[in-house]
Amino acid sequence: MAKHNYSPESLMMSYGYNPELSEGAVKPPIFQTSTFVFKTAEEGKAFFEVAYGLREKDQNEELGLIYSRINNPNLEILENRLCLWDKADDCAVFESGMSAISTVLLEFLKPGDVLLYSSPVYGGTDHFIHHFLPKIGIDAIGFSPDQNEKEIIQMLIHSGKLDKLAMIYVETPANPTNAIIDISICQKIAEQFSTNEKKVHVAVDNTYMGPLWSHPLQLGADIVIYSATKYIGGHSDLIAGAVLGNQEIMTRVKTLRTFLGNMASPHTCWLLLRSLETLKVRMEQQMENAKTVAEYLNNHPKVEKVFYLGLLKPGTKEYLLYTKQYSSPGAMISFKLKGSEKEAFQFLNHLKLFKLAVSLGSTEGLAQHPASMTHCGITPENREKMGITNSLVRLSIGLENINDILWDVQQGLEKVIQLEKIC
Ligand SMILES: *Cc1c(COP(=O)(O)O)cnc(C)c1O
Repeated sequence: MAKHNYSPESLMMSYGYNPELSEGAVKPPIFQTSTFVFKTAEEGKAFFEVAYGLREKDQNEELGLIYSRINNPNLEILENRLCLWDKADDCAVFESGMSAISTVLLEFLKPGDVLLYSSPVYGGTDHFIHHFLPKIGIDAIGFSPDQNEKEIIQMLIHSGKLDKLAMIYVETPANPTNAIIDISICQKIAEQFSTNEKKVHVAVDNTYMGPLWSHPLQLGADIVIYSATKYIGGHSDLIAGAVLGNQEIMTRVKTLRTFLGNMASPHTCWLLLRSLETLKVRMEQQMENAKTVAEYLNNHPKVEKVFYLGLLKPGTKEYLLYTKQYSSPGAMISFKLKGSEKEAFQFLNHLKLFKLAVSLGSTEGLAQHPASMTHCGITPENREKMGITNSLVRLSIGLENINDILWDVQQGLEKVIQLEKIC
């Protein structure tokens, strides 16, 4: 019979794990150990040679288990499974999304370099770019989703630092506005300004859409990054991150991770393995619920505007880009109430089923106010430019029954008293 290729969701229960190595246990146990016993001194020597890059791996040689900062079965099985969704050569899992992001930026940038990044990015990323990178002599230039290729290049030329461009970092769709960035344009700019000595890498934070609905490596990116705290973990009970890419890139990322020591623990990896088994059904149901909620909000008289990819108008430039990069509108909605912070807070304070909390992609619905919470570190002016107004609310849609979700949104909106008529 011809070899059958399983879909990733079919492999999430078993791939990369051999029960015979663990007393027949159907699921991988937690390998709660710091170090691993070598059979012989020769074996230990061979493992270290590979781990420290003193020689190439022989064909079919696997990196032996040494020490849990370098490798651990829970970490390795998880990384092997995550590779399947993005069709990546290799993956590195971190103790947080921020440690994944900061490790990538530290590995691929050096003093004097320039980072081009899409704005807005996640608040923690924004802080690292603006408050840490300058301390080691790395400049950053932001571009917005409405700038085209020519305008971005013009801006780089204008800065006088074009020859220092070393990395393009994008977050798409942007949090919290769902604005989308064309990855192929970033790839073109990176290619245009790469030289034989210096490759400009493109990194994409795919937390909002991955690993199910968008695969940036296939769209021209070199590196894909996740906060695995979000959809991948999916139960609001852990913090983790992941980086994926080709072998050459991942060897660099994993080497720096070994020396920063910011890998995920065996217990976190075990929880993530459990989460991966239901990843697809969770994300798909969250998306189905979100479509209905977005439609409802879009027709509500107290709502000024809804930002949801499923509401983009066919035929527009944005819609074309959306269909090129994404296979789903996702489960993240933001919307502007008519009014300001007062109206937004009235809505948030009266929600009963949604939890008033930051984070996203979890089984339960979460609601928050970006201007005063996740994006409070950005100046009011810049927030306004990014569309993060005081009346903006962000919803992460969960797995609750859709009738209950709609009831909660409806009764929350009923509590909003709009005194001034805003037409
Ligand atoms: C949450 C988040 C991060 C940071 O991840 P942590 O796991 O909280 O460190 C980065 N990017 C995006 C888009 C996020 O939503």
